[in-house]
Amino acid sequence: MKNAYRILAGAVCALALGTAGAQNYPSKPVTIIIPFAAGGPTDIVGRQLAQAMTKPIGGTVIVENKPGAGGTLAAEFVKAAAPDGHTVLLHHIGMSTAPALYRTLRFNPLTDFEYIGQVVDVPMTLVARPDFPANNMKELVAYVKANKAKVNLANAGLGAASHLCGLLFQSAIQTEIQTIPYKGTGPAMTDLQGKQVDILCDQTTQTTQLIQTDRIKAYGATSSKRISSLPNLPTMAEQGFPAFEVAVWHGVYAPKGTPKPVLDKLNAALRAGVKDATFAASMDKLGTLPVSDAALTPDGLRNHLKAEIDKWTPIIKKAGQYAD
Ligand code: ASP
Repeated sequence: MKNAYRILAGAVCALALGTAGAQNYPSKPVTIIIPFAAGGPTDIVGRQLAQAMTKPIGGTVIVENKPGAGGTLAAEFVKAAAPDGHTVLLHHIGMSTAPALYRTLRFNPLTDFEYIGQVVDVPMTLVARPDFPANNMKELVAYVKANKAKVNLANAGLGAASHLCGLLFQSAIQTEIQTIPYKGTGPAMTDLQGKQVDILCDQTTQTTQLIQTDRIKAYGATSSKRISSLPNLPTMAEQGFPAFEVAVWHGVYAPKGTPKPVLDKLNAALRAGVKDATFAASMDKLGTLPVSDAALTPDGLRNHLKAEIDKWTPIIKKAGQYAD
């Protein structure tokens, strides 16, 4: 019933737009909902994207953080938002891992949204507090195995990229350690630098400068090739973990039933924003990789989402980690 109402609301909205298309859109600020805490990697991408989309969309674009439950609360929130293009979701790879991790997920990533396009791919880095005893990957593995009862791993909750990466790390070294969930890796990184937690796997959008200035220790990158802004950091594959590859891809979603002219305008603004010179240069500096033109489309996002769900579901099920 709720769904029928939403489809009706979308139809009414489309009718209201009529032949004028999306001429009156946006009629108020467009809010990009960020599923994690302010100051973290997803927030960094979201804030810069909001700025880059402001001119092409012809209105203000702001961000709002709605952290919780590994990013799933934000997706639920946007699913229930008015389908008028003024509330959209920026989410990452977590959109594809949540279905396998949550026994009860209150949204279906493949049917509850409209798809705007992908944004940028971000590698992850395995890092530790500045005074952690291990100085390289070999020492890290040996230390964690020998001290598994006391070493801990911070993450941004079940469904976060840091959770997935931590899961891959534990399975690669066949050792389980205690995990400490945060509302985002922004606050987790603050605690890591403050030496309150030991290890974290996090996107280069947050770790690049900290690694470059030796404020945290780094052991490996989850990309297939070395990250150009961190040329001395070996990949996980180089260090004997060939299956340890994670690219944190991002997508922008709108509530189901958002009218097509509005979706088209959002997509055009996203494409212009991602190609904006300031956005591109800043992302490049943070170790990210640009996406193809095909990825910057609704189909490019939905097809990738589907492929990633198919890829991660069996891996996560094998690891056997769930939430209710
Ligand atoms: N890096 C986080 C993650 O693990 C999210 C964030 O705070 O941006 O998904």
